[in-house]
Amino acid sequence: MELTNTKNAFEYKSDKELKKALRLFKLVKNKHVSDFFAGLTLIAMKFRIPVAWLIKPIMFDHFCGGENSEEAIETANNLWKYNVSSILDFAVEGQVDDKIVEQTIEEIKNTISLASKTDSLTFAAFKPTALASHEKLHHLATSPNLTEKEKAEKEKYEERFFSICEFAAQNEVKLLVDAEEFVYQFYVDELVEKAMKKLNKNKPLIYTTLQMYRHDRLDYLEGLIEDARQNNYYLGVKFVRGAYLEKERILAFKENRQSPIYETKQGTDDAFDKGVEMVFENIDICGIFVGTHNEDSVIKSINLAKKYNVDKNDDRFFVSQLYGMSDHISFNVAKEGYNVAKYLPYGPVKVAIPYLLRRAQENSAMAGQTGRELKFVKLEWERRKNN
Ligand SMILES: Cc1cc2nc3c(=O)[nH]c(=O)nc-3n(C[C@H](O)[C@H](O)[C@H](O)COP(=O)(O)OP(=O)(O)OC[C@H]3O[C@@H](n4cnc5c(N)ncnc54)[C@H](O)[C@@H]3O)c2cc1C
Repeated sequence: MELTNTKNAFEYKSDKELKKALRLFKLVKNKHVSDFFAGLTLIAMKFRIPVAWLIKPIMFDHFCGGENSEEAIETANNLWKYNVSSILDFAVEGQVDDKIVEQTIEEIKNTISLASKTDSLTFAAFKPTALASHEKLHHLATSPNLTEKEKAEKEKYEERFFSICEFAAQNEVKLLVDAEEFVYQFYVDELVEKAMKKLNKNKPLIYTTLQMYRHDRLDYLEGLIEDARQNNYYLGVKFVRGAYLEKERILAFKENRQSPIYETKQGTDDAFDKGVEMVFENIDICGIFVGTHNEDSVIKSINLAKKYNVDKNDDRFFVSQLYGMSDHISFNVAKEGYNVAKYLPYGPVKVAIPYLLRRAQENSAMAGQTGRELKFVKLEWERRKNN
């Protein structure tokens, strides 16, 4: 499959938007500039200096769908003209304030309702830390001596978690539960397993996320498949490589335990491929969502779909990239008729800043990735200029 056609990849962007993308990727290419920018933003946030006016035109507009769900749907509908669907992703994480958590849950449910009635929206998604801070979730998941107040908090957390899953199932909307940090992921896994057992009786609606940089994930997947067969439910599996590589390694080192991550990129890549193949082998009871910017992984998953007779538009197979990244994959794959979904973060600029900083750092840390984004945007810019 040809993934390099830049006309297809950026057809949805005006010349002005493409020019802005070109400037952005040139800017974040330099790790020093990117780190300086990230540091400055964090300092400004700490001292409550408004930075949204600066972040919005440079980064927000490129990586986010809008400041509210109405704007995000407009963006999604634009992508849908090219057969690329979207997943509205309310960009909050690490919530502390209970009132804000309540509002966040309402917003996540709003994205589920919207997905149930909007053709361009094929999934909903949420992060477990949209409902509690990282520290709180870690504590609730691991502490053997919770106080009565904390036990009640844990109960409340689970109630809220399941209320989102149940709302998705009632609305027949496929729901992705994102994966985050290793220290509490085992607890999130337990909750998602419970939700899948209860709500995936007729089809995969609730999807767990497997971070394939973890060396325990293939065994875990094998157990999940066995359990789903034994207990007659469908498995929804979202594959990613994992976003917290450095952090996990440093933490494991500090806590004097074995790192949960493969020692080499090759180890992660092999596990990713193997996991995807395992799910295709069991496609009669699975839904598969391949979240990656890796061209090889996308091509391999498409070849597996062919091998296991999964039709291009079969609802059980999606490939997905983040909005503003790897458009050459998303739009060329969609042009071939396969199901493609973009993660489309949205929300107030201030709230989206942690997400944007991760994008900036990810893009500068991985020279290959930024180089590739910049190369394709540049090629398309040249092509348009010469036409
Ligand atoms: C649609 C979508 C949804 C996502 N959702 C989540 C999510 O819920 N949770 C989450 O954690 N991440 C998520 N991510 C991010 C994802 O985990 C990766 O960080 C990101 O996509 C880069 O990996 P890749 O497969 O695209 O590309 P590649 O460039 O092929 O892989 C880079 C990744 O390989 C791994 N890696 C790199 N070097 C090494 C090494 N030396 N040893 C071992 N492993 C290494 C790391 O995971 C790194 O991020 C999502 C990504 C997408 C596209």
